[in-house]
Amino acid sequence: MKGRVFSGARPTGRQHIGNYLGAIQNYVKLQDDYDCIYCIVDIHALTTLEATPMKSGLQENIHEMMLDWLAAGLDPQRSILFVQSHVPQVMELHTLLSMVTPLGWLTRVATFKEKARMQPDNINYGLVGYPVLMTADIVLYKANIVPVGEDQLPHLELAREIVRRFHYLFGPTFPEPQAKLTNAPLVLGLDGVNKMSKSLNNDIELAASPEDTRERVISAFTDPARRYRSDPGHPEVCNVYRLHSFYNPERLGELGAECRSAGIGCVECKEALARSINKELEPFRERRAELAARPGYVKEVIADGARRASAIATETLTEVKQKMGLISRQVIPD
Ligand code: SF4
Repeated sequence: MKGRVFSGARPTGRQHIGNYLGAIQNYVKLQDDYDCIYCIVDIHALTTLEATPMKSGLQENIHEMMLDWLAAGLDPQRSILFVQSHVPQVMELHTLLSMVTPLGWLTRVATFKEKARMQPDNINYGLVGYPVLMTADIVLYKANIVPVGEDQLPHLELAREIVRRFHYLFGPTFPEPQAKLTNAPLVLGLDGVNKMSKSLNNDIELAASPEDTRERVISAFTDPARRYRSDPGHPEVCNVYRLHSFYNPERLGELGAECRSAGIGCVECKEALARSINKELEPFRERRAELAARPGYVKEVIADGARRASAIATETLTEVKQKMGLISRQVIPD
């Protein structure tokens, strides 16, 4: 039997190449070997409303993000693609799991401390309970595999602790979710310093036009020591070079040597990168335009995903309530 993967991502709207290289391409590959459930976690986004970029509104962000996922190869025939709040059972399970989760486990989470520092005027309950909701997301669907980067391992370990505590109190119910470590590369933004991020405006959207993509790439920071065309460059400190490693791996050695000998100028180097990104993204953009032209298609995918996710969620929640003594065993269907 195939394992079941669960992963969620915040509704940040149009996705950028950092989202693709860091997560989406892995999501697409996992579909070959697992039953996958991919969720846009809109409730999680409410914990940091001020920090989450929602210029065009939550619904618009969800629509654009799902369109990108679909165009990139997430397949609604093979995977369940849905929006977290459309399956409200997750909030019920969150409440039930919160009863078995000691507060101290939550207040010592590093990301809670970091978020509390970043938004001292809005240290809301949701922020503290975030890992419990995340655990509910995973175990509601009895997922046993969660693709994570190394930085997210402590969160998954906390989810496993909550599961173990539930099992200790009420008996075995969920698979203990296992991390599937992904080799997601760290993709820096056009500023060459921070992780690529929409909110920092240092990103290249997958769905941007070829001309916009070119303009964005041309604006990228490079080796600060290279002030004149004749200055030899240091590709190892240049983020344009790093981006070439994703889009031009076969030319990397040659580009590096040309940079070091000042054989190539930065504008030329960036033009080559923009051409490669545009070439690689052409099929994605065509597919996205086709899907966008199908009226109601994204809504249908999301509604179907919610129906399928809800069926699993209802079964799990019934079992949980039974084990916690909230409903009698007699009413549980076989
Ligand atoms: Fe960076 Fe390319 Fe300029 Fe070298 S030539 S500093 S790799 S942009």
